Amino acid sequence: MADCIFCKVVRGEVPAKVVHRDECIVAIEDLNPQAPTHLLVMPVEHNATLWDAIRAGQGDATVSKLFEVASRVGTERGGEQGFRLVVNTGPDGGQTVGHVHVHVLAGRRLTWPPG
Ligand code: AMP
Ligand code: ZN
Repeated sequence: MADCIFCKVVRGEVPAKVVHRDECIVAIEDLNPQAPTHLLVMPVEHNATLWDAIRAGQGDATVSKLFEVASRVGTERGGEQGFRLVVNTGPDGGQTVGHVHVHVLAGRRLTWPPG
């Protein structure tokens, strides 16, 4: 999608610290980290939300790869102390970028419930 910031990241049109890239998934460091490790894992293909991606028929491959990569980088970066995966969805969910992405947060003790 032409004016989507994460599509631009995926295409390499805006700078990003890329920590993982394959044919269907890209992971970058968040510009405004909320924890010592704060990564964003996203499909290459544009869909606004996780449900949109599933409905678009990506449920079997891309969506499982999305969580596989998120869990791998979370395990690598969070180690035995763990990590948190977050998918903000829609305005009430706190989503500000309309390209599905998984936040990977690690490196400090996170509180619950979130705000
Ligand atoms: P959300 O609010 O769940 O949609 O998350 C969007 C996240 O993207 C926020 O944590 C932002 O800090 C982050 N973000 C926005 N633009 C960029 C960018 N160009 N590079 C890296 N992270 C970004
Ligand atoms: Zn996009």
